[in-house]
Amino acid sequence: MAETYKRSVFVAPKQIRVDDVVIPEPGPRQALVKVKACAICTWEQRIYTGEDPVYPLSGGHEISGDLVAMGSQVYSDAKIGDRVVASRLTRCGYCESCRRGLDSICDNARRNFSSSDVPGPSGLSEYVLIEDYQLYKGANDVSYEELCLTEPVACVIRSIRKAQLERTDTVVVIGAGIMGLLHVLLAKQAGTKVIVSEPNLKRSEFAKAIGADYIIDPVNESFKDKVLDYSKGRGANAIFTAVSLASAIEQGITALAKGGRLSVYGSIHPRGTKITIDPNDFHGKEITLTGTVSQSREDFLQATRMVADKIVDLKPFISKVLPFEKLAEAIQWALSPDTYRVLVKMD
Ligand SMILES: [Zn+2]
Ligand SMILES: [Zn+2]
Repeated sequence: MAETYKRSVFVAPKQIRVDDVVIPEPGPRQALVKVKACAICTWEQRIYTGEDPVYPLSGGHEISGDLVAMGSQVYSDAKIGDRVVASRLTRCGYCESCRRGLDSICDNARRNFSSSDVPGPSGLSEYVLIEDYQLYKGANDVSYEELCLTEPVACVIRSIRKAQLERTDTVVVIGAGIMGLLHVLLAKQAGTKVIVSEPNLKRSEFAKAIGADYIIDPVNESFKDKVLDYSKGRGANAIFTAVSLASAIEQGITALAKGGRLSVYGSIHPRGTKITIDPNDFHGKEITLTGTVSQSREDFLQATRMVADKIVDLKPFISKVLPFEKLAEAIQWALSPDTYRVLVKMD
């Protein structure tokens, strides 16, 4: 009898099915990864709760593990047995977006993932079959728990890169969840002054502990006045919204410096929400409103290097590690405002 592995599938709100699937042989240009750790991102949380009802879907896109098999024509610097990280975005390489350097938003990204009969990145499973270009060598001396957080780091690398920060800029990060906090770390490394806006005291204290220069409590303080105070009246050169509230964008725009950029990092919910902007802010202050999603292959490569070389310490963001069998419980923990990242481990 063929050997099987366990694969989780979201089938309805708060319902996870676990399939026994035959361990596949990688075909040409494919690799098989034995998953060791997978983190639960906001996307998986929303699918679980039913806020993003896409079923069936095999979730889990923040994946680390061991490379166990490679098909023909895989030319990787990773060898069998090495720790690897899987970047599960589809980057076809030949669509209009990929050819224009926007492989983070490949036109074919919504095609079924080729590794299984159920769509989805499928990292919340004991094995995952991936395409050769999705394989990144990890560092064998870094824990699987840290390695699986390469993907969120890559997303923030993209966000920071697009904002074109200059040393001494004033940066505002709205929201101090893990993604906001990663923005704080990377913006500090870019030589900027960082203000964090966060109403949750525990979270804002943590932001301060990892390097934020100033904290704003947007419920009890005037966001705009405080940003102006902390930037000598100039306003923020860059603002990142790492929350799902549309109002954060409107609020952010009021506090931008001339030539400032506001980047919408977190997706806004409910989807379809509209914002109101005074168009003269574009005209009179030359501000830019932009955003990013996911990461390019270059961002992902940089993230693997940052994790390998310990340029970013991810340990403080790992709030809880549960065994794969307790996936539903792990997602409940991930939904709690008291956690940053919750991971499941496969062993
Ligand atoms: Zn993610
Ligand atoms: Zn493409």
